Amino acid sequence: MGRITAARGGALRCKGWRQEALLRMLENVLENGENQRELIVYASLGKAARNWPSYLAIVDTLKRLEEDETLVIQSGKPIGVFKTHRQAPLVVMANCNLVGRWATSENFYELQDKGLIIWGGLTAAAWQYIGSQGVIQGTYEIFQSIARLHFGGNLRGRFILTAGLGGMGGAQPLAGTLAGAAILCVEVAEERIDKRIAAGYLQRKTDSLDEALAWIEIARRSGESVSVGLLGNAAEVYPELLRRGVQPDVVTDQTSAHDLLYGYIPEGYTPASAAAARKEDPARLQAAAGASIALEVKAMLQFKERGAIVFDNGNNIRSQAVQHGVPDAFEIDIFTEAFLRPLFAKAIGPFRWIALSGEPQDIRIIDELILQEFSDNEIVTNWIKLANDHIPFEGLPARIGWFGHKDRSRLAVAVNELVREGRLAGPVAFSRDHLDAAAMAHPNIMTERMKDGSDAVSDWPLLNAMLNCSSMADLVAIHSGGGGYAGYMTSAGVTIVADGTADSGLRLRTALDNDTGLGVLRYADAGYETSLAEAANKEIDRVDTGRYDDIPVD
Ligand code: NAD
Repeated sequence: MGRITAARGGALRCKGWRQEALLRMLENVLENGENQRELIVYASLGKAARNWPSYLAIVDTLKRLEEDETLVIQSGKPIGVFKTHRQAPLVVMANCNLVGRWATSENFYELQDKGLIIWGGLTAAAWQYIGSQGVIQGTYEIFQSIARLHFGGNLRGRFILTAGLGGMGGAQPLAGTLAGAAILCVEVAEERIDKRIAAGYLQRKTDSLDEALAWIEIARRSGESVSVGLLGNAAEVYPELLRRGVQPDVVTDQTSAHDLLYGYIPEGYTPASAAAARKEDPARLQAAAGASIALEVKAMLQFKERGAIVFDNGNNIRSQAVQHGVPDAFEIDIFTEAFLRPLFAKAIGPFRWIALSGEPQDIRIIDELILQEFSDNEIVTNWIKLANDHIPFEGLPARIGWFGHKDRSRLAVAVNELVREGRLAGPVAFSRDHLDAAAMAHPNIMTERMKDGSDAVSDWPLLNAMLNCSSMADLVAIHSGGGGYAGYMTSAGVTIVADGTADSGLRLRTALDNDTGLGVLRYADAGYETSLAEAANKEIDRVDTGRYDDIPVD
């Protein structure tokens, strides 16, 4: 079998566009993934399917799936097809969910080795991954928020230090230059640096710290933006910068620090020697990774003490550091709470759309539509203009845009009309990241320090998935963490296809409005004032139990 890429064009291999769309999305996550041979898409171990037989069986089943049937998938393995009805999801899946006390990385690895489970990342096993472009607006909005909060509105002349140029981390250099900064990205694997340069996300590469710092300094002084990939290990480079007295303005890290066995490469190791150690002595490798993370996080704390804005970018690096002897690691902020919560509280989050035709022009037409229809939405119009000028497509042409309640459905229904009128070359799939208002419970990332203390309550993503099934979405997924994320999170994913039919219009409006509606109510329930106001303004039917508080009950 040759390299897998997503099918393009108008020819259907399935019995309808909805099924074809899901098949193309599955192929697309592999086309964009980091290691296709192992079915690994991103985040060190996030896989698209259990194994190759499962992948092939999913493809065949999607090809024969009728419009009134539902395919059930368990941790990347197709289990069966059930007769449902034409408005039911075509695919439902549960990936990597373990019973509470069993949800440890040790149990996960054991079950994975037995072939019983995979970690699906957030968007890998749910077939929603669109490459580094999927996270880039989020990273850009974080930098913009830092600029507004700490640097008088822009990052020109500012130095961002980070690490990791993998599937998601690869968005950092381009997000940094779009925000006007000089950004240094430390990456231990040279091919990852080369991949980001080839994709147009990164400008320069060197293995010399001196050269990297010289480029950063020139950019910093002139106020020009630059992105530099430095071949090196963050556990060595961060402390070395401290020793040299080099002080960045902003510091973070997006290595796969969440996973000590498959993700983070300890100091003194190369990716190849770590792969060998993984087989020979996994316990030693994990201990070394933990010790290196401790070194890196101690350096991050020092940068913070010296005045840098330091944050955890969603890779559990602080939890790992605490377990390896850095008790104060949680003095570092989490990006969601520090920079994005006001958006999530209004269910504004990483919405995305994918041109199933493979035609970039379809995305450009949607860009135009957005600039006209949402001209009063500054976040979105600013982003769409930047994206149009600077973001290279990866795989099937796609776009990410942080839209909120009602706006997502307004856009999707308008696009469905474009498909119906034949103004686009093909249907469009709508999806979103699992890191969304109702869709994720992760007490060290998404739901850290919620106003009411409900950080670890995972009812919300489960309700989100059930509501999306009831709301006629085409694919609904429930995920929990694997590897180093085992026991840390539960999330839900959803995909709906705009194929130009009236049924599609109904599905898009119902599923997208209910998805974000529940997001607003999750934050309203936690007591966020903006969410209560958003629920009232947008007429979400919130049941207010507070009205019954004063009624005496015997
Ligand atoms: P990835 O596995 O594709 O890439 C990680 C990169 O880090 C690899 O290129 C690896 O070579 C590099 N690396 C590992 N150890 C290193 C070290 N010591 N020094 C320098 N480089 C090192 O993972 P990814 O998809 O880029 O995700 C990275 C992390 O971000 C994961 O933990 C993931 O779960 C998390 N994540 C966060 C968000 C978010 O919204 N903030 C979104 C997605 C993923």
